[in-house]
Amino acid sequence: MPAAPTARTLPLAGQSQTETDNEQWVEPIRWVALAVFVVLPVFAFFVQRFAGRVVWTVMIAALPLFIVLIGYHRWRRICPLAFFSQIPVMLRRPGTLKASEWLERNYYYVSFAVFFFSLWLRLIATNGSGASISIFFIIISLAALVTGALYTGKTWCNYFCPVSFIEKIYTEPHGLRTTLNSQCEKCTACKHACPDINEENGYWKEINLTAKRFVYYAFPGLVFGFYFYYYLQAGTWSYYFTRVEGYSGAWVNQPGIIWTAFLPGRDSETAGFFFMQGMPRSLASVLTLAVCALLSFLLFSWLQIFIGAYLRRRETDGDAQRVRHVTFSIAAFTAFLTFYTFAGAPTLWKLPWAIPHLFLILIALTATLTLARRVRRQSKDFAEETLARSILRRWIWDDMQPPRDLHEAFLIHTIRSRENARGAAQTIEIYKEAVRETLANGFVTREEVHLLESLRNQLQIKKSDHDKVMAALADEDRALLSDPARQVTVEKRLQLATYSRALEQFLGKILAADGNADDSFVRQLRSEYRVTEEEHAAVLDDLLGGSRGLAARLAEEIATVERAAKTMQVLDLQKSPTHDFLKDLLRRRRAHSVEILARGLSFSLEEEEAISLRAGLCSPEESERVSVIEQLRASLPQAIADKLLAAYRETSLAESSLPTMTDTLAQRTHSVDPYVRAVALYALGERGAADTKILVRMLGDEHELVRETAAHLKERAEMGADTVGAHDHLITVEKMIALRSAPIFSSLGPGALAELARASREDEYAAGQALCMEGEEGNEVFIILSGEVNVMLRDGLGEKMVNSEVAGGFIGELAVLDPAPRSATLRASEHGAHVLRLGGEAFRNALNADPSIAAGVIRTLAQRLRHPHDE
Ligand code: SF4
Repeated sequence: MPAAPTARTLPLAGQSQTETDNEQWVEPIRWVALAVFVVLPVFAFFVQRFAGRVVWTVMIAALPLFIVLIGYHRWRRICPLAFFSQIPVMLRRPGTLKASEWLERNYYYVSFAVFFFSLWLRLIATNGSGASISIFFIIISLAALVTGALYTGKTWCNYFCPVSFIEKIYTEPHGLRTTLNSQCEKCTACKHACPDINEENGYWKEINLTAKRFVYYAFPGLVFGFYFYYYLQAGTWSYYFTRVEGYSGAWVNQPGIIWTAFLPGRDSETAGFFFMQGMPRSLASVLTLAVCALLSFLLFSWLQIFIGAYLRRRETDGDAQRVRHVTFSIAAFTAFLTFYTFAGAPTLWKLPWAIPHLFLILIALTATLTLARRVRRQSKDFAEETLARSILRRWIWDDMQPPRDLHEAFLIHTIRSRENARGAAQTIEIYKEAVRETLANGFVTREEVHLLESLRNQLQIKKSDHDKVMAALADEDRALLSDPARQVTVEKRLQLATYSRALEQFLGKILAADGNADDSFVRQLRSEYRVTEEEHAAVLDDLLGGSRGLAARLAEEIATVERAAKTMQVLDLQKSPTHDFLKDLLRRRRAHSVEILARGLSFSLEEEEAISLRAGLCSPEESERVSVIEQLRASLPQAIADKLLAAYRETSLAESSLPTMTDTLAQRTHSVDPYVRAVALYALGERGAADTKILVRMLGDEHELVRETAAHLKERAEMGADTVGAHDHLITVEKMIALRSAPIFSSLGPGALAELARASREDEYAAGQALCMEGEEGNEVFIILSGEVNVMLRDGLGEKMVNSEVAGGFIGELAVLDPAPRSATLRASEHGAHVLRLGGEAFRNALNADPSIAAGVIRTLAQRLRHPHDE
């Protein structure tokens, strides 16, 4: 589990600490809003004359502006309808149904349909009739309450409420004001990518939903259509507006309009359209709303094409998501301005002229600021901010408070980390914790982590360190898959975390009272949190420090050991540098898994047993591996031993049934280790067996090395090249294979090899061509991939050869280790030479990092001392 944050929680970007601390002011507003909401239908019922005006042109008209100014999450806590939907929870009788997959995909259509229906109702019944308004308010409150009684969590707010998508349209992805969250105290994981937990996460995760696109694009037209209908009905704007010469605003006081709405129109008041009086108002209004919404959808879909073309010309990242985001932003801006061109006007324009004008300035400013703030936003910014915030939550500078502004705080943290030894040492660990937390919350996917390069650069985290972090987290992921208590979605984590807290409290009470566990209470708790039996068992297991999760993890390690052993056997059938490298990687993975097994079982095994376990598991003989696993039965609890043995047998059988080397390699492209994936893929490519399906999958891999290898193989396949190596320049994995073949680098780990490979460039030299000249400055080492390089010294007017170096050797290291002019000229021999030129700094880093390289260099230097004319 991620370590608990050790430092104070930082405010979100753009939000002050005081605001996060003092959200109590929301609570009184919530009660006032509820009181208004309850009083409103009573008022409407008894004061017919002002009902429509107060409800529609004041209260409802003010709502979008209020939501934008106050922020999404605060509104979600204030909303009176949300209160009604939560009454069953307060009464401890919450609903238990969960939204279906269909609803999850299509809920935008549902809430849009409810909103559409509500607008239509306004035009035919509730606009100017106090009694209808009262009934409408009562029905919608009851709908919220009944949904809360049937469905779990905030199903009403998330899936059905007609305002739910409007709140989002005006505030996504992160609104004018960033707010914390409005998550439920008892989370039941009722919604994927829950906006109450994190609005922006929900936005980016759902941006590609077809339903969302439809609603965002149709909404501005629907708003316009609603107000345009007043004109179409009356043939004049005077029906809608007030206080404009000759205008009446009669709609706000039209009791009983419903009685004629479904009948053919007879006069100007009952007409459907002014130009088609006979059409019933109910039909004319629904047609207007539908046509305008549809036209709006088509207009914005068309606009999206132009925005796409424009962005692709202007930006390098004009991808589909960005195009949709920009179009969403423009649609929201249009809808907001359209709404406030009409909403409130019949009452506003009755006030002294300065007030409506000031109000309109406020609207224009709010809309423009919102547009400017949201249009530039990208999912990458969100991912970076989330990770940065997670890093800063682990603020380690006790001598100062974190600044209010996220960027400033991050800057200070970064600078201090660089300057301070403690900070520098902790940076990678903090980074790992932060990546782990962000991944586990589902805010950033593994595939998106590689996009956070600028953040890594600010923290000066090397690519190889990042790769190590990701490899370690990939190992943990396997445990997550087999442990329901740690499954990866932010809702699931919140649900199980809140359930775990409640269960812990209950267990604490039981233990303190020395009493018996009350089953019915736990059942009640489970039903309130919608926790399954399996999840309950996992949480309990976790609380009680059980070994269930551990057993699953160890079983996976046993499987890794067996996979590695079987694959190495297969690779032995055909020797090649690529196969050697892959074997080395698998050996490392196996050693890692054996270590985890030994550590995991250290409580149960004697030292002797642990030693024989390590030796047995690393044996190439299957019988020895089986034997040590069988022996575990004597020391481990039955359940764990059975699980380990089953995992071993299953894996052994699965691996043995792979008919060819190609099948084995294809399986290894699923490894959690990116280096194994990349090299297995390359080996497949060498066999001409990297098919399109594999390549497509690997092109979307989270690791750059795998993607690069896949892209290369795809390119080769498209060019119809016969062999994967037949191309101008080596790709990283090829350089890694070549470097590893040089004895001096043969013991390097894949991360260090990748770093060297990236820091090197290859060159081809014709016979006699100089790699470097005697006397010139040099900061590169040459690793000879093929051919031969001669060491030449000046001799009078000519040169004489004093030594040579062949493939697998390196040369030119003296000028790097002890900066001085080159002491000799290096020339390709008569067969030419293919070399990797390695930057001095990368070489020195490798030397410092791995003692075996230093030993290799010393050995070579010693040999050269015996042959003093070497460079
Ligand atoms: S997912 Fe959890 S926090 Fe979000 S609305 Fe549902 S119950 Fe509340």
